[in-house]
Amino acid sequence: MRDTKGKRISVLGAGRSGLAAAKLLLRKGAIVYLSDIQYSAEAEEKCKNIDDRNFQFELGEHSERLFNKTDMFVISPGIPMDVPVMKRARDMYIPVYGELETAYWFCKNPVIAVTGTNGKSTVTTMIKEIFDSAGRPAVAAGNIGLPFSDVVDSVSADSLIVLEVSSYQLETIETFHPNVSIILNITPDHIYRHGTMDEYIRCKFRIFENQNKDDMLLLNGDEDTLDIKVIDNSSSTWFFSGSSPVSNGAGFEDGILYSYCDGDASEIIDVNELQVPGKHNIENAAAASAAAVFAGVGDLSLIAKALKSFNGLEHRLEFVISNEGITFVNDSKATNLDSLTTALNAYDSKVILLAGGQEKGSDYTTMIELISDKVKTLVLYGESSTKMFSAWENCVTPVFKAVDLSDAVAKANREAGTGDIVLLSPGCPSFDMFTDFEHRGREYKRIVKALFSN
Ligand code: ADP
Repeated sequence: MRDTKGKRISVLGAGRSGLAAAKLLLRKGAIVYLSDIQYSAEAEEKCKNIDDRNFQFELGEHSERLFNKTDMFVISPGIPMDVPVMKRARDMYIPVYGELETAYWFCKNPVIAVTGTNGKSTVTTMIKEIFDSAGRPAVAAGNIGLPFSDVVDSVSADSLIVLEVSSYQLETIETFHPNVSIILNITPDHIYRHGTMDEYIRCKFRIFENQNKDDMLLLNGDEDTLDIKVIDNSSSTWFFSGSSPVSNGAGFEDGILYSYCDGDASEIIDVNELQVPGKHNIENAAAASAAAVFAGVGDLSLIAKALKSFNGLEHRLEFVISNEGITFVNDSKATNLDSLTTALNAYDSKVILLAGGQEKGSDYTTMIELISDKVKTLVLYGESSTKMFSAWENCVTPVFKAVDLSDAVAKANREAGTGDIVLLSPGCPSFDMFTDFEHRGREYKRIVKALFSN
């Protein structure tokens, strides 16, 4: 544990993580100055509600006060490390830590940390539900909506903490040391923030840099982006797979998910009993099972029980409504091309796809083959629709451009017939039109349900 008592700490960012870090540090006796370059009435309200004489804040600027006798900076994951204040902090040799690292200083519980480009929230929740099913206390925290800083000093002593961690959080760790690290998959995403794919992978790999022989690193046996041979780790390496057996971990053979120990297989579940669709969810179930077994859930029937009742998370291939044989699915969380790929591969038949959103420089031509194979009607909307249209206009007939999501749903519905799946899986972030992917998903569900309410 690091002694933060009486330390002057500048916290950057008044979002969920920054506020949680500030409050944790105040509980640990620090003198906190919080700063966010953007002003919002909501952030102001939240800051004003922190009633502590050791707390002050500024919104709308990063002033000189940030550097006034400051012992360290704590930075929120949303803020890149190369912003001018961070450059200046480094020039002044003031240490900078992320919220994940800061919270970890006060962590006394075992931690399972889950990272990867896609599937983090799903696997984090599955592990938590397996622990619930086994009657073992666990909390799910981190990127999943409940900051680590909010729970780290209040969970019961016997509780496991399952943490969803992003590459942004891993960029600023130093001592963070999970007992189990899971890297689900790594595909191009967030390159604009990390600069290169190598740098993105390097950040993800930091998840296991402090692990030792008593710990476990769980890797995807089906992943070809990761060259396992170059992974230099001191912990045990286990694997999960949605398509083949593994030596240690969890894998798949003839429709059954098995737990493997030195090659010996024990049945967990027939994958037909999973409620969530697609091979990716078999992988997710395998990852969650392997982590749970390593963490001591020995009764595989309890793992099966949890997996059988796991219905998936909102906005991830979420069933919305079925009307006159047309099924509407909400996959608003698909904010990159990899998750769009996953969604398209989750269905055997061709779908009516609604895609588009904030343009973040993806190469849509990489999807030409899959769009041709899996999409029968394409409806594009949002900032990225022009680039998507140029890449995909020859893959599918018909292709429509819609002015907004309502128009997209109306066009899709007009085209749909019995047996069709209308899938919102945007492949892009939502910020061109919505506050976040949740807002986009909720709007989609509202629009779809309104179509059939009369
Ligand atoms: P994350 O927390 O990493 O963003 P989620 O579990 O929220 O992951 O899922 C995000 C998107 O990725 C959804 O569209 C979901 O269907 C898809 N997805 C879930 N699991 C995987 C996986 N193992 N591989 C690829 N895509 C996945």
